[in-house]
Amino acid sequence: MPQPLPDSVQSVFEEVIRRNPGETEFHQAVREVLESLGPVIAKHPQYTDGEIIRRLCEPERQIIFRVPWTDDAGRVQLNRGFRVEFNSALGPFKGGLRFHPSVYLGIVKFLGFEQIFKNSLTGLPIGGGKGGSDFDPKGRSDAEIMRFSQSFMTELYRHIGEYTDVPAGDIGVGTREIGYMFGQYKRITNRYESGVLTGKGLTWGGSRVRTEATGYGAVFFVDEMLRATGDSFEGKRVVVSGSGNVAIYAIEKIHQLGGTVVACSDSNGYIVDEQGIDLDLLKEIKNGHRGRVADYAAARGAHVAYVEGGSIWDVPCDVALPCATQNELPEDAARALVRNGCTIVAEGANMPTTPTAIRVLREAGVRFAPGKAANAGGVATSALEMQQNASRDSWSFEHTEERLQTIMRQIHDRCLTTADEYGAPGDYVAGANIAGFTRVADAMLALGLI
Ligand code: GLU
Repeated sequence: MPQPLPDSVQSVFEEVIRRNPGETEFHQAVREVLESLGPVIAKHPQYTDGEIIRRLCEPERQIIFRVPWTDDAGRVQLNRGFRVEFNSALGPFKGGLRFHPSVYLGIVKFLGFEQIFKNSLTGLPIGGGKGGSDFDPKGRSDAEIMRFSQSFMTELYRHIGEYTDVPAGDIGVGTREIGYMFGQYKRITNRYESGVLTGKGLTWGGSRVRTEATGYGAVFFVDEMLRATGDSFEGKRVVVSGSGNVAIYAIEKIHQLGGTVVACSDSNGYIVDEQGIDLDLLKEIKNGHRGRVADYAAARGAHVAYVEGGSIWDVPCDVALPCATQNELPEDAARALVRNGCTIVAEGANMPTTPTAIRVLREAGVRFAPGKAANAGGVATSALEMQQNASRDSWSFEHTEERLQTIMRQIHDRCLTTADEYGAPGDYVAGANIAGFTRVADAMLALGLI
């Protein structure tokens, strides 16, 4: 059973369901935020009077477009493209593009909605947005990826700009795709407008640490959680789901900090390597030839178990980092984690833990960090990339990583102080939602009726 919503936001939630039928992930993301807002509304009537919450739930602009392209056999293919420009009170719309067959308006809206609060929490001048396509990159050639990305940008270019909307990557979109899109934007507009996209390559306007940032940032966040109780990663056994960009760099940083990651996964199954994941091998398989974790098991030898299907959350651990995709950690998985003595769960992906799973974890005293706080390092480093582009500068790895670490520490502390202030000590969910909300809400009030 879901938690009851505060009376003052019940009608807003009903309206969201009515106006956005069938968009279940969006409903879930909205509900998770609204559940936290009771104490804020009680304290600050101006938010209710100004209908801030109702306005926040309605995107400023939603764009849906046709993306035609030809495959290598010369056949015409058709996909749907999206960009939801959710809120620009704090800065240009900012958020990634996801290329995955599951993408539809409800997914883009949930991600865009989360992005508003996440970006606000970073303390940087970025609004919230998200986009993508139901295009499936799996098995597509490099030439097909290029033709698709170019066609996608042929429509998207008119909606974006360094002061308007700044997309980046997400699932299925990395430096390669950003490159093809940036090239197409440059051709169409005749402008070398570096700040229009982030996640660029290092030789053409990208920032150091952007590739690593989401994974590193999530681990810095957990490191702060551990530090808050006088603990550290030293000797910790960790499970990281996924094996994409976020997972790989989370594993790298955990190993640097003295923890051991014993399991990771992909959509087919998971591997358990009791000696710790060999990251060079995993990187070679994933980045080198876009392989699967099953290939890792085959290459590394008999001590590695590969479990096809099944749940990675059955693997005992002290810390769990879901870094794959939404709703990948359901109630049963949460119960398994609790049973096996896990003490911290932090979301590297966006909304990977279902609402019931979150409740199970919290009731069992597992400390839980929501994605909008724990995975904000990616977008924060995108904002640092925008800063470098605006000043035509390029920072060192050390300087950029230090900035990222400071930002993650500040987000962590902001969550805890806000949770304290609103009577929910130690509650990272309440802290993240309330701190994210108040910064945007205050800007919206200041800017008049927007
Ligand atoms: N897609 C990432 C996220 O979920 C990064 C967005 C960005 O860098 O703009 O936050």
